[in-house]
Amino acid sequence: MQKIEHIGIAVKDLDQAETTYALLLGAKPYKRELVESEGVLTSFLRNGPNKIELLQATNDNSPIAKFIEKKGEGIHHVAFLVSDIHAEMEKMRADGFRILNDEPKHGADNKLICFIHPKSANGVLIELCQERKYSV
Ligand code: ZN
Repeated sequence: MQKIEHIGIAVKDLDQAETTYALLLGAKPYKRELVESEGVLTSFLRNGPNKIELLQATNDNSPIAKFIEKKGEGIHHVAFLVSDIHAEMEKMRADGFRILNDEPKHGADNKLICFIHPKSANGVLIELCQERKYSV
């Protein structure tokens, strides 16, 4: 794991959350991106070497909608940057972590991503992400 790449925060109202986090961080959101397959609209803000990813559900079946229904708004996941996601997934599987994806999938911000079950990490949903070197 190279560093914390971003922290994902589940929000009900993306416009409102962008305003709040822009004030908090002193930096405007630099990008919005729809991840259709996950049912989320994301917005990114920079904070030094790290980012904050705000996540709003686009439909009731979205994992973010379910998360908010259960727990309310708040930190949804912590994402770590890795250089080789396939190798990292293999290592983590061997180490006994429960990985929620068989294969890495396309995430927001030009990343390949996978998730580690919160039960494997003391209640925190962990995302691994790798920069996509080329578009597939
Ligand atoms: Zn994320």
